[in-house]
Order: sequence, then C-alpha cells, then structure tokens
Amino acid sequence: MPAEVHHVTHPLVQHKLTLMRNKDASSTTFRTLLGELAMLMAYEVTRDTPTQLVEIETPLEKMMSPIIDGKKLVFASILRAGNGMLDGLLRVVPNARVGHVGLYRDPATLQAVEYYFKMPTGMNERDVIVVDPMLATGHSAVAAIDRLKALAPRSIKFLCLLAAPEGIRTLHASHPDVPIFTAAIDRELNDHGYILPGLGDAGDRIFGTK
Ligand code: URA
Repeated sequence: MPAEVHHVTHPLVQHKLTLMRNKDASSTTFRTLLGELAMLMAYEVTRDTPTQLVEIETPLEKMMSPIIDGKKLVFASILRAGNGMLDGLLRVVPNARVGHVGLYRDPATLQAVEYYFKMPTGMNERDVIVVDPMLATGHSAVAAIDRLKALAPRSIKFLCLLAAPEGIRTLHASHPDVPIFTAAIDRELNDHGYILPGLGDAGDRIFGTK
C-alpha cells in the first residue's frame, strides 16, 4: 500500500513558490524564499511528531505542558540543494540533528552515484526527514533512503518543494512506506531529467553557480 503524498497547498507556500519559480529571481531572493518555505513546510512534515508532557511553572502556577524531543529528529540533506532548506528547518527545530548524503546524477544514465554519507549516531532511535527541494527522477531519493534504511531509523519521510509524477512513482515503487511532502506536483520531466515547468537547477539557483 503506497504511502501518501502530502501536497501542501497553503496560500503562503504557494505564493512563495511562485516567486521562486520566476527565472528573474536573484540567488539572494531564491535562497531567502527557500528558507521561508522550509520553515512553513516544517509545520506539515512534523505534524505527527510525538510530544511528552513536562512539568513547568508559569508566573501563576505549575502545569503539565507538551514538548517534542527535537534531538530525535534528523534532517538528512541530499547534497547540495538539500542544504538550502536546512537553515529554515533548523530555525523551527533547532535541536534536530543533521545528516548529509552526497549523490550526483550520472548524466548518461541519470542514476544516482554516492560520494558522501554521514549521519548522526544512534539512528535506530531517530525519525528521519530526507530533504531535497526537487523530486525529479526519484533516483537520488531512492538511493538515499536505501542507505538510510540500512541504519533502521524509527521512521523516514521525504520533504521536497517540487515533485515530478515520475519521481513520485519511482519513490513509491521502491519505498511505498515513505510519505512524501511537497509544495507542488509538476507536469513532467524533460529529457535531461529537469522538472517542467519547474524552477531550473535548484543548486545553481541557491548557490549562484550559473
Ligand atoms: N534537480 C534540479 O535542480 N532541478 C530539476 O528540475 C530537476 C532536478
């Protein structure tokens, strides 16, 4: 049974995404919007995070009040574009741990090739949110989640901004248990694996490399 696709349709998310898609948005604007969107998407992707009651004292009296254990969360960034969402996510969950997965797309096969993998210790007690703004072919997402599952985390979710139908199908085929959170589901991929209408190369736009 494939896991859900959570399409985040909140007007603020959609508005900021429109501004990001615009080819004339500068790198600074693009990065700022991506950070803001990451914060907004964090609300959705952490919606079912367990809470526990702790005793605190307000200026008036004691009470039991819920907190989350942010340290149990891992944001696993798929390099390099995933890093563009980390600041926003960490502003909302500052205690979260961060992992990195380095993958590049072989231009001929469009398959993901791993060159870096570093996660926090104790992954079997953690909930992982894999982060990449673009779910395009889905090959990087599948490769990252293959590696993560070997560490047996408590749960895995996938967070992106744009998803192509092909990427959703590929990710669901390999990892039907991993829910996808996205701000948009675009039309299709082009022959080079870019999402249409998309927003271009997310890494280049974040880091100003083109
Ligand atoms: N990666 C990107 O940065 N953009 C796309 O459209 C597809 C993959």
